[in-house]
Formats: sequence, C-alpha cells, structure tokens
Amino acid sequence: MARTCATSYLEASEAQGSEVGTFVEFTRALRHELRDTLGSAFASARLLQDVGEKLPEPSRNEVLGSIPRNVQRAIDLLDGVCLLFGSESSWEDEPREKGLLEDVLPEAAENVSERERAAGVAVEVVGAIPACRVDAGRTRLILHNLVSNAVKYSDRSRDQPWVRLYVDPVEGEGGDVADEAEPGRVRIRVEDNGLGISPDEQERVFDPFYRGDAGDMSGSGLGLAIAREAARQMGGELTLESEPGRGSTFFVTVPTLRGPDEAVH
Ligand code: ADP
Repeated sequence: MARTCATSYLEASEAQGSEVGTFVEFTRALRHELRDTLGSAFASARLLQDVGEKLPEPSRNEVLGSIPRNVQRAIDLLDGVCLLFGSESSWEDEPREKGLLEDVLPEAAENVSERERAAGVAVEVVGAIPACRVDAGRTRLILHNLVSNAVKYSDRSRDQPWVRLYVDPVEGEGGDVADEAEPGRVRIRVEDNGLGISPDEQERVFDPFYRGDAGDMSGSGLGLAIAREAARQMGGELTLESEPGRGSTFFVTVPTLRGPDEAVH
C-alpha cells in the first residue's frame, strides 16, 4: 500500500497546488491524530490496569468505554486514508459490513474524542431512525468525520453549542424499508450551530488537504474528502449548506440494503 498511497497522495497534493514537501506535514498530522486517539486508549488501559479496582463504577465504565471508541477512530482514520489514496481495489473490493442504521447513528453521536468532549458541545440524535440496513463501515466513517468536525468547528462563544443528527426518509424511495422491502435511500442530516463555512469555501472544503481558517484546530484536511469518497463508493452523496455565524448542515444520502447483517460483496 505504501507506494500507491504515497503516489496518489502526491498527485492529490499537487492538484491542490501544494508543495511536495507537505508530505511531511501530512505524516505529521496523521501522527498527531493517531497519537491522540491511540494515546488516549493506551492511557485508559493503563489506568484500569493500575487503579481500575479502586475506581467507582461510573468512572470505570467511562474509562473502559473510551478504549474501543478511540481505537475505532484510529481504525477509521487509517481506513479513510486507504480509501482516498490506496489502490483502486483496497476499499472498493472490500466486503460491505451491513448494519442497522439505528446502531450506526447513535454510535457516531457518542464517538466524540475526549478533546472534543471538553468543548462542551451537546451531540444528539433527534427523532426516529427508520428501520433499515446500510453499509455500516462507510456510513460510520462518514458520520464520524462529520460529527467530529461539527464539534471541532463549533462556536465557542455560544451559550449552547450543539450538533444534531436527523434521518429524513427519501420520499418515494422506500426510506423506511424493512428487511423484505425493496432497497431505497435515506438521507442523514448532520446539523450544527457552529462557525459556518463561507460560500466560496463550500465546494473547496471537500478537496483533499483543503483546510479553512475556521478556528485554530489541528487536522489533516482529509476528513471531508474521505467522507465524500466513501459516499460516492456506496452510490450515495454528500452535500452541504452553510452560513457563516449560523452553522452548517451536511446531507448524506445513503442507499439502504436488503436482508440480514452478513457481509455482502
Ligand atoms: P480538517 O478538519 O482536518 O481541516 P476536513 O476535510 O474535515 O479537514 O475539513 C476541511 C475544512 O472544512 C476544515 O478545515 C474547516 O475549515 C471546514 N469545516 C469542516 N466541517 C466544518 C463545520 N462543521 N463547520 C465549519 N467548518 C467546517
């Protein structure tokens, strides 16, 4: 993977008009993100090992829960980088992991890192989630990136910063399909009352390595490019509406899948 990944990286980087030297910045950003997630998981595991028995149960459960959450984020990041820069076959040929949207969506809302939690943003799923199955791996990857961004680029001057996730059935396409029904599509909305994105940036934010100056946050500029590519690979799409100072809404259209949870090819 390494050669293909580096070659595709350089192409994307040049297309963005970046210096080839920014590969160093990319690896630095990747290292930073991985150290953040895996470092948190490591610290939690150590804490449990050393003083786990002495911790009151709620704290122990919180520490325990942070381990899979952080490891999953690291896996998502690596999957996302492969999805974007890996060889054609790396992700597209991979079996889809079929899962219930009602499991994937709340998990995405909970999967907010410790650093992001500290921002005090309320993340919630609003309304009913239709009973349908989706490509869980790609949907999770998209939602993790969107929720994480919505928290990262929240407006810290607000009394009540929030991120809300909704599911809109797509009319006439069987959005609320049950197992036996024809596969259709659902639209997931990730809404925030954060900093917003100016009109001239709204398409560019999906370009690999594009980073806005909203907030002084670390990042690789890859999250939205990964999310849009994951949506494309599913036959779905990812679009955006935003107003600076009011917030942003990302729309993800996801095909629903028929049948039980086994992997499909
Ligand atoms: P990164 O967060 O690493 O910079 P992304 O590809 O995820 O990379 O996002 C690209 C840019 O889009 C960000 O740098 C930021 O300027 C902007 N952005 C993304 N999501 C939001 C959001 N919810 N609110 C405001 N700006 C956002």
